Amino acid sequence: MPPIILFPFYLVVTFAPLVLAWLQGLPARPVQDELATGLGMVAFSILLSEFVLSGRFKVISARMGMDVTMRVHQLAARAALLFVLVHPFLYATPMLNHPRPWDGSGQLTLGLNVTSALTGITGWVFVLIIVLTSIWRDQLPFRHETWRLLHGIGAVITAVAVTHHTLASGRYSADPLLAGFWIVLLAVALGSLVKTYLLTPLRQLSRPYEVSSIRKLALKTWELTIRPNAGDALRFVPGQFVWLNVGNSPFSLAENPFSISSAPADRNQMQFVIKEVGDMTRALPEVTPGTKAYLDGPYGNLTLQHTQATGIALIAGGVGIAPLLSIARQLKADQDPRPVVIVYGNRVAEQIVYGDELLELVTNPGSELVHVVSEAGPDWRGQTGVVDADTLGRVFKQHDVSGWLFLVCGPPIMLNVVEIELKELGVPVSQIVSERFYYD
Ligand SMILES: Cc1cc2nc3c(=O)[nH]c(=O)nc-3n(C[C@H](O)[C@H](O)[C@H](O)COP(=O)(O)OP(=O)(O)OC[C@H]3O[C@@H](n4cnc5c(N)ncnc54)[C@H](O)[C@@H]3O)c2cc1C
Repeated sequence: MPPIILFPFYLVVTFAPLVLAWLQGLPARPVQDELATGLGMVAFSILLSEFVLSGRFKVISARMGMDVTMRVHQLAARAALLFVLVHPFLYATPMLNHPRPWDGSGQLTLGLNVTSALTGITGWVFVLIIVLTSIWRDQLPFRHETWRLLHGIGAVITAVAVTHHTLASGRYSADPLLAGFWIVLLAVALGSLVKTYLLTPLRQLSRPYEVSSIRKLALKTWELTIRPNAGDALRFVPGQFVWLNVGNSPFSLAENPFSISSAPADRNQMQFVIKEVGDMTRALPEVTPGTKAYLDGPYGNLTLQHTQATGIALIAGGVGIAPLLSIARQLKADQDPRPVVIVYGNRVAEQIVYGDELLELVTNPGSELVHVVSEAGPDWRGQTGVVDADTLGRVFKQHDVSGWLFLVCGPPIMLNVVEIELKELGVPVSQIVSERFYYD
């Protein structure tokens, strides 16, 4: 199923409360009030859907890609914040904390009492804090894991507080159908947390792995190899990634996304290429063989599945080579006859990993390996510069790439350029699959 299929589902969930409210046929209030209520309800269904978007559901991420899923999560949160901010200020109708007996339909007064006002204010403040601390996450003086924990706790408090506020004071949410809708959506939201942080770790406990080796590959870049304690390693499609937890309890939040760089053909072990960036990755050199590891996955859609491509272009920036290595290794293991062109950009030549093996992965007719280095030393014999329009034009104009699939992985800035340039070269969007190594 194409990813676009998910969009109508999302719209239905987001706008269902408006339809359920309208169907109640209550007497109309001033437009401002209806707008305030409508924005509040849409914001709330967006906020509850955020739990599902970040809940690692393969039915979503395998279609859209985890980076796109999380981008939708970010943008939706910003839209919801806007609606939440204006929601209380739009009302024209007075607030009274005691009901008027003659106003059964809540047309003339807002049904706020002290408790529902407090839960509304709590939700309002928490949504503001959660979204702003996500936007400026990298500037906060917290470890990523601490931010994730606070983000999750804040989200739960918001969801529970706003559910109370909506059910206790919402004019339309007093109706059993709409109230039921909110309760089901809250249960789904909290259920997705239970799945990710309780059920998945419980499953991981029964499938532990252990580190079999850790080896320096290049400048600040390591190869980590793990083996399952029993049986075969996890089944995955080349190009996918897992949440990897090395040396902590499976219930810990200390898990990071890493692409699998080995091929599925390698049944009894899994490898990763990991660049030193922060706490977890800088501590890798101290990890010793035998350390326990846990995996959650596989996730991601940077794969060759479902394509009849006539050739494969793999374009990597730095450690973005990891998932593309898995793909190239599997193509080699399958003796796939299609041409494979690898364009591999790095800042300095000392960052290149598996230089010799990469040459062996491009032996089919029409295949090529192009190294691009931006800060080249005097001994550098490859191309100098960055992976941009010039480089891509030079490489791909020599090939008939009309039926090729382009897989791109690397830092966001490189991906933006490459995606635009490939489109300029006439590559249809449907033949470009990319993955960013960054998201909220
Ligand atoms: C789909 C995907 C695949 C990736 N594959 C690779 C790979 O094959 N090799 C590689 O070297 N890097 C990969 N990364 C990047 C890698 O996840 C981060 O570099 C790593 O998590 C940094 O952790 P840290 O504790 O060392 O640094 P920190 O200082 O804690 O984090 C640095 C940045 O990494 C990101 N990050 C950290 N922890 C998480 C987390 N749990 N979830 C999401 N983002 C997080 C955040 O943006 C953070 O700002 C991948 C990222 C994604 C999203």
